[in-house]
Amino acid sequence: MNQHIHGQHLIGGDWTGGETSFRSLPASGAARDYASGTAALVDRAAQAAEAAFANYTATTRQARADFLDTIADQIDARADAITRTGAEETGLPEARLQGERGRTTGQLRLFANHIRTGGYLDRRHDPALPDRQPLPRPDLRMMQRPLGPVAVFGASNFPLAFSTAGGDTAAALAAGCPVVVKGHPAHPGTGQIVAEAVDAAIRSCAMPAGVFSFIHGDTHEVGQALVQHPLIKAVGFTGSLRGGRALFDLCAQRPEPIPFFGELGSINPCFVLPQALAARGPEVAQGWTASLTMGAGQFCTNPGLLILHQDRTDAFVAAAKAALQDAPAQVMLSDGIAEAYRTGVARVGERAEAVVHDRADGREARPSLFLCTAEDYLADHALGEEVFGPLGLIVTVASDDAMLALANGLEGQLTATLQMDDADAGLARRLLPVLERKAGRVLANGWPTGVEVADAMVHGGPYPASTNFGATSVGTLAIRRFMRPVCYQNIPDALLPGDLRD
Ligand code: NAP
Repeated sequence: MNQHIHGQHLIGGDWTGGETSFRSLPASGAARDYASGTAALVDRAAQAAEAAFANYTATTRQARADFLDTIADQIDARADAITRTGAEETGLPEARLQGERGRTTGQLRLFANHIRTGGYLDRRHDPALPDRQPLPRPDLRMMQRPLGPVAVFGASNFPLAFSTAGGDTAAALAAGCPVVVKGHPAHPGTGQIVAEAVDAAIRSCAMPAGVFSFIHGDTHEVGQALVQHPLIKAVGFTGSLRGGRALFDLCAQRPEPIPFFGELGSINPCFVLPQALAARGPEVAQGWTASLTMGAGQFCTNPGLLILHQDRTDAFVAAAKAALQDAPAQVMLSDGIAEAYRTGVARVGERAEAVVHDRADGREARPSLFLCTAEDYLADHALGEEVFGPLGLIVTVASDDAMLALANGLEGQLTATLQMDDADAGLARRLLPVLERKAGRVLANGWPTGVEVADAMVHGGPYPASTNFGATSVGTLAIRRFMRPVCYQNIPDALLPGDLRD
């Protein structure tokens, strides 16, 4: 399918331009102009979403599932244009974008099947007990209901799977919530093509036009107006701690506060336990550096922190250095992200010993590797802040107790990893209760990059990894973010939502 990049917004079924525009900064190919979002456009989109809510919620689960499947089909129909435009805008390899498209359509189809079965509604029924003493019990039925219009922020590092029709949008639409997307300015053309796929699915499934809107923007005005709009009832966000925290605070300060489900930042600590280090240190080092440099380290699950015993550090560090020092430069997602990476490398470089400190220029990055002690790490908060990109910090500990102390000193994380052999089970058993309080996902003998989209997945974690308190942004459980339980007491059967009737 041939795609024309016109740079317009999609508001309640209409493609519309505007008076001002911004110019994209693609990694390759021609820069293009895109209409700038405004607070007035946000208002139009939110009004359209609210107008669509009642009709969309009244559709059957089967109809909504078919809609999600049709969005996936429409994305696949635009596969070549999405890959071409995405590669130009982000610098990501075509193979990665093809894989990410499969993940995105797979996610939509997974949610379609999830809502067909109905288990997510968590229906409960306490039948009336009219003869109960001393008081009768009324008939009580409970079910999860959609919240209302949801705002979604496209992420820079996943132009498909965490953006326009990515996990947040799929979960919200599956829950029965209309969506207003704020496109990420690093891939506006890709966003437009995916929005056209959703638009085509709305038309072919005869869904209400306001169920999905897409607004371009490269200023904070759009995002701020969106999270503050009184008709928006929840927000899904993936991005920086700074941006996410600012938007979270705005949500909390509203006259009617709303939940902000932000997936922010994480350094994903990996603990190499003594027996594993002795038996296969260099092999573990190779696995770690491969995960660390994948996609130029631009994953929220990038394993930026590795902890090991100081008496066996040398061979490990030598293997990691050998793997990283001649690694080629990689193109980063945007000029700003490349600049932020260099700033982060400089910050860590002032505080830790450089093993590999390779500076690249412009939009490129090379891996960096630093070394420090647990005492240094715990004494300086700046060493624990995420550097988005291929930076690894090895922290050495003097004993098992020091390893536990370091684990206890960590902030909230998306993941925590144990590299362990059978003989490490004793230490692992001590670490696990600490790590499960720190991270949303704990894994053994693997690497955290590559998040499976599945029923049991958790992609979230204590702050500052996320503001997803008790929730996940990946996997079918993500739907619960956009629903709330409603109890119906003695409501006549004919008045109940269809899914709750006898
Ligand atoms: P970002 O700066 O947080 O931006 C994400 C989205 O939020 C953009 O649409 C941005 O739009 C909007 N935004 C940011 N601050 C805002 C504010 N104060 N008010 C209103 N809207 C705001 O993230 P990014 O552009 O993706 O990348 C920058 C940095 O984020 C990276 O260097 C990295 O540190 C981090 N990052 C982390 C992850 C992760 O998964 N942990 C993923 C991606 C990026 P406007 O700029 O148009 O306002």
